[in-house]
Amino acid sequence: MNKIRVMSELLANKIAAGEVVEKCVSVVKELVENSIDASSKQIIIRLKESGLREIKVIDDGSGMSKNDASLAFERHATSKLITDDDLFSIKTLGFRGEALPSIASVSEVVLKTCNGKESTLVHIKGGKVIETISSDEKKGTIITITNLFYNTPARLKHLSSVYNELASIISYVNKIALSYPNIKFRLINDEKEMINTDGSDNLLKVIKKIYGLDITKKMVEINGFNDDYNVWGYVSLPEVTRSNRSHIITIVNGRVVRNNELNKVINEAYHTYKEDSRYPIVVLKIDTDPTIIDVNIHPSKMDIKFGNFDELKTLIIKVIRKAISNKVLIPKIEIKKEIELKTDDTFYNNSFVVKEESIGYQMKLDDNISNNDYVEAIKDNVKLPTLFPVGVVFGTYIVCQNEKGLYLIDQHAAKERINYEYYSKVMYDNNNNISTLIVPINIELPKNECLIIKKNINILNNMGIAIEEFGTTSFIIKEHPAWIRSDEAEDVIRKILDLIIRYENNFDVKRFNDRLAMTISCKKSKKANEYSSISEMESLIADLQLCDNPYHCPHGRPTIITFTKYELEKMFKRSI
Ligand code: ZN
Ligand code: ZN
Repeated sequence: MNKIRVMSELLANKIAAGEVVEKCVSVVKELVENSIDASSKQIIIRLKESGLREIKVIDDGSGMSKNDASLAFERHATSKLITDDDLFSIKTLGFRGEALPSIASVSEVVLKTCNGKESTLVHIKGGKVIETISSDEKKGTIITITNLFYNTPARLKHLSSVYNELASIISYVNKIALSYPNIKFRLINDEKEMINTDGSDNLLKVIKKIYGLDITKKMVEINGFNDDYNVWGYVSLPEVTRSNRSHIITIVNGRVVRNNELNKVINEAYHTYKEDSRYPIVVLKIDTDPTIIDVNIHPSKMDIKFGNFDELKTLIIKVIRKAISNKVLIPKIEIKKEIELKTDDTFYNNSFVVKEESIGYQMKLDDNISNNDYVEAIKDNVKLPTLFPVGVVFGTYIVCQNEKGLYLIDQHAAKERINYEYYSKVMYDNNNNISTLIVPINIELPKNECLIIKKNINILNNMGIAIEEFGTTSFIIKEHPAWIRSDEAEDVIRKILDLIIRYENNFDVKRFNDRLAMTISCKKSKKANEYSSISEMESLIADLQLCDNPYHCPHGRPTIITFTKYELEKMFKRSI
């Protein structure tokens, strides 16, 4: 049977309606996904001038018959989407057939393909078949697109710079390589190799190829399931973050999916472990019964709705939290032998050069592909090592030592973390004691703010704050929960009122309590330029040791960093 069939008119129109081929990356995407569908084990993408001059995709897949090869460039032909329902099944990867004629109509195409029985060459220019002849290709398909958009000057302006075209192609191939570690991908632009994965079905190896060894050492595996979902993948330690979400890759049933809800859930899992405005590197694979999800596909984008999303959310947060809270998260300050260009944000902006670190490390990771050696796990629930304080520098950092190295603790951040965990707990304690004030507190506010407080007075009452209107622009407070110290009551209650005024429009009790705990913690922590005695430092360290997360302040900044003894000796050239 022919692989490419003519699909129904309805389906064709649905697809055609949203379909625009206007960027090199959409051509690359189409061709690569065709190659994946053809069960290729190796896919090579060769570009000239970022694809503007030529895009060539070479695969070792099943190839096409002569008939299929000529049908492939006819409108409304598809090999996979047979019925309307199929359009909504996530098991279908790409749109075969419909994009090829669109691509062919704006370029020159040479298709060489062999299905093991017959070998065919189809040459098309401006959408017209020039020749269909027998070829000498061995099994697989080579498709060459030249002079993309040559006959559509209007569309040329859609193309951004050579540089941006390449950046989006690299970003796409990175993602597809991460979703198919079992396929070998090579991306070459103007004879320069950009990506080369080995197809060994080892996700960590693909991560290393794309992000480099330093990052790979800081990726931890996650794993878990519930009744409906299986999740697996790698997430970065909180110290590795990026300025945007584009390094969060979510793959649902083998297909890369961009979903804001999932991104939010992943970010929430890191709450207080990193700054909320920074994003981790994540490759998260979600597998589920296709009937549980609702997929809405347009050729250019895909929308997905998950059934039982709350359970999926809980599962994702649980597995990520478990993975990161199980690790010693004290950033190590390391010196590098040479300045290297890393695959961080600058990778997409400034340079495509990715340099590997020392060969020794590299071999180790290749031979025994596990990064557990690199990420120290917490033993016996001891999250901080024993530390001996030496003194304070800049009135800010406590200097400590032990046999392994030198540590710096940000005393404000550390105290803030201790306070935050304390307040988060007492605030949720329902048996909160109430303190009655002998002299009520009187708080005056501008009229508009008074109205907001009046509207939300139940929030305050629920917290155990007895507040009453007093005249038109002030309130009196007679009682407050006992976790607020009486001598600080006015300050703290003012903070609470501030928060209610600030967040009145999207008020959420959980988020409010969290912000409140953060605000109070910050306020109650030693500011910079305050010196502590050794015994104060010792008790701070002891309290920090008891925290669930002693490594970050509630805003996600580090509380402690270390220079290992080994690194110090390296810097002073005492060891090589
Ligand atoms: Zn602070
Ligand atoms: Zn902070």
